Amino acid sequence: MTRAWAVGLDMGGTNIRCAAVSVAGDVILMEHGPSLASRKAGDVAENIATQTLHLLDTARRRGHGSPRAIGIAVPGPLDVQTGTVMQAPHVAAWRGYPLRNNLERLIGRKVVVDNDANAWALGEYWRGAARGRRDVVLLTLGTGVGGGLIVGGKLVHGRSGMAGELGHVTVNPDGPPCDCGSHGCLEAYASASGLRGLVENRLGLRPGSPLPLQIVDSEKNFSVRGLSAQARRGDRLALETFAIAGHYLGIAIASFLNIFNPELVVIGGGVAGALPYMRKTMTAQVKARAFTAICSQAKIVRAALGPRGGVVGAAYAGLHPVMRS
Ligand SMILES: [Zn+2]
Repeated sequence: MTRAWAVGLDMGGTNIRCAAVSVAGDVILMEHGPSLASRKAGDVAENIATQTLHLLDTARRRGHGSPRAIGIAVPGPLDVQTGTVMQAPHVAAWRGYPLRNNLERLIGRKVVVDNDANAWALGEYWRGAARGRRDVVLLTLGTGVGGGLIVGGKLVHGRSGMAGELGHVTVNPDGPPCDCGSHGCLEAYASASGLRGLVENRLGLRPGSPLPLQIVDSEKNFSVRGLSAQARRGDRLALETFAIAGHYLGIAIASFLNIFNPELVVIGGGVAGALPYMRKTMTAQVKARAFTAICSQAKIVRAALGPRGGVVGAAYAGLHPVMRS
């Protein structure tokens, strides 16, 4: 096998996916491991390096040779030019952490680092729902809400790579607190943690209280899937919760439409599966707030790559690095 390829590694709060991705965007090999995100800053980076080196070794043994590039996607705003993680919601120890320098030292090769939501957006742009489009807004509704912006066929990085924090636009000035320190952010409604907060609020529960059995998983954690199943059964609490989330999602999307005039809004992540229960209130707000002429040119669609989006996009970021300072 002589196909040219790149490493795409996607680190989440719990797991790491590490893949060999061909230069055409096909996943050739995929390995999984734990993120160890609660460990010390250096140990978390060392774990990423170890998993990358393991994949390089597997690839070599299977006759794929060496990669053309290594792209690594991690959570949290980071400076793509210096490769420094400013802060990461799941890795408490990474504050102003020089991730790229340390990974390059440990791996012994050049590395490109980018934000996980940006990488996911690049994946959908390269091989997913946004393929061939030039102006796209991408939203990933998971534990939090991430975003990516493709304008004129290019990912928008901003001054230093931290643009596209679409989950932290204010949709309700008087809304609930958000993990980012602000309040009333989109993430405080249209994410798993936001939905949980809405449920607690409607049931009059204190944050973190035990929830009804129908909406928790086997480890007693809030389950968006459980809440969706309840909505499917016609449960009023579930339907109303999704209706509220959809309402605020629609307010945010209307603003994104008016600002960027995209041809496509792509929605992915675990909460996207509940879109059918959010779509009515979402569409009502989009229609009420965005210019009709802009609205009529834009489609709102589901992401296409699923969990593979992150590794495919990380490989793309590796193959198309932005300038280093
Ligand atoms: Zn926020």
